[in-house]
Amino acid sequence: MRVSTRAPLVVAFRQSARRRFGRLSGSSRSARKSSSAAPLNGTADGDAWDVRKMGNAMKNKVFNHLPPGMILVVMLFWAFGPASLLNNPWTLVVTSALITITILLLEKAHERHAGWRMDRREFFTDLFYNVMSASAIVWLTEKLADDPLKAAKASLGVTTEWAMHMPWLLQVALVVFLIEFGQYWMHRLMHNWAPFWLTHAPHHHITQLNAGKGAVGNPIELFLISLSVVALFDLQDTAIFAALNVLSVISTFAHANVRSDPPRWYAFFFTTIQNHSLHHSVDYENTRCNYGNSLILLDRIFGTYREGESALVGQDDRRRLSIWEQTIFPFQPIIDMIKARRKNGLSGSDLLAGGQPERDGSVGGAAAA
Ligand SMILES: [Zn+2]
Ligand SMILES: [Zn+2]
Repeated sequence: MRVSTRAPLVVAFRQSARRRFGRLSGSSRSARKSSSAAPLNGTADGDAWDVRKMGNAMKNKVFNHLPPGMILVVMLFWAFGPASLLNNPWTLVVTSALITITILLLEKAHERHAGWRMDRREFFTDLFYNVMSASAIVWLTEKLADDPLKAAKASLGVTTEWAMHMPWLLQVALVVFLIEFGQYWMHRLMHNWAPFWLTHAPHHHITQLNAGKGAVGNPIELFLISLSVVALFDLQDTAIFAALNVLSVISTFAHANVRSDPPRWYAFFFTTIQNHSLHHSVDYENTRCNYGNSLILLDRIFGTYREGESALVGQDDRRRLSIWEQTIFPFQPIIDMIKARRKNGLSGSDLLAGGQPERDGSVGGAAAA
């Protein structure tokens, strides 16, 4: 009885698979048959191969739609979630962490490149930077940028209450645009002016991409890239938090080792791993494109968009920097200069007198291009 009730389903499943993917090519089918002693086994292998291929295609399809799917979930949560959660100041911290953890787990379920596989050293380095970004960098940005902006606005008597009365979706879109517009130009500046490149270069020294890698970099860069003018606008908290989480989903997927290539409509507006891995190319010239952290549309508008993808990422012959090396990286030219002076027997007063430094030009040299 069990066989007779299941059989039509199995036939339908196989027919569906064949409609989608066609029959096996003659060569591969005959190769499978020739490797099998019995023709019957060859047919069973072929059907199993069909089913496996269909399973893989389904898996790819599901993973390709995960980024827009997660954006939808985030938006629904902040729009219709229980008030007790939406009003809790820790909710944003938890949802942000959940986004990173979820995408980190997806790396295990559907890996993009074996060379980007997470190990213990990468995991704890990423964890360090993610915790620092969510704590010290957020605190610094509030104290040094957002609070002074709000104070200046108040002292000038400027009010932006109209923003609060815009449709909620429009408020989310405004926050996404304001943050991304600022980040785009800051990022572009970092790739075109040596002092700023020195702060950003550590992020480009990462030698693999993973869900937590977006937060890896020099603390000065992390502070600079987090600056925005959102504080000037009176907006609903949930709209700001929804926008932050949406940007988090997009930029985390754009750094993750997940085999997920979102639909074309998504990739037209939002940054994907393809766009961003090209930006992390080992060839410095190829890094000077696709500056949008999440909104690749800005690159399309301002002429910096470039098609492509890179499996090999890093700078400086793919030298991996330790946390300490990343921290002192912007000051490395000065440190090298002082060391060279000492080696050449020049005193501190000679240094102050302005003797010529001997630089090997290796640090930050790429930005001078
Ligand atoms: Zn960059
Ligand atoms: Zn990056």
